[in-house]
Amino acid sequence: MAKDGSSGFLTTRLDAFINWGRKNAMWPLPFGTSCCGIEMMATLCSDYDMARFGAEAVRFSPRQADLLIVAGIINAKMAPVLRNVYDQMSDPKWVMSFGACASSGGIFNVYSVTQGIDTVIPVDVYVPGCPPAPEGVLHALLRLQDRVARGDTLAQKREAALKRAHQTMRG
Ligand code: SF4
Repeated sequence: MAKDGSSGFLTTRLDAFINWGRKNAMWPLPFGTSCCGIEMMATLCSDYDMARFGAEAVRFSPRQADLLIVAGIINAKMAPVLRNVYDQMSDPKWVMSFGACASSGGIFNVYSVTQGIDTVIPVDVYVPGCPPAPEGVLHALLRLQDRVARGDTLAQKREAALKRAHQTMRG
């Protein structure tokens, strides 16, 4: 019996192997709405080269992406669209809140701006700054990858809970 309650050596090692693959092959979906979007593009370009960490295969279809990067202001009208995009992504999926506006509304403390995307969708990692420097984005990506490797993200915990429930039902 493993520490996390799962049974069998093989199952535990297989989970670790799958998480290793997930960690090293994230496919980002950029949801850039304003100035932070420009900094996100810089992170993907050759000077900073996010490809070094296996996360350069940008996808503009939620069904093909597992890392939603929200960069910029999310106003009240955009919030349901963001939720819809998130819901269309397959599990397991991760969310990066990129910059002050996405994380807290930033300087826009007004009724029309969402005061943090975590009021709309779950967030795994926050990147501070207005805008964040590409180095900060890469740092956040590496921290997220560490958590994915450990199976320590919201989506993976949800997945593990479903697996346990399924095993319990099967007896
Ligand atoms: S955090 Fe700063 S750079 Fe980013 S969208 Fe807001 S105002 Fe623009």
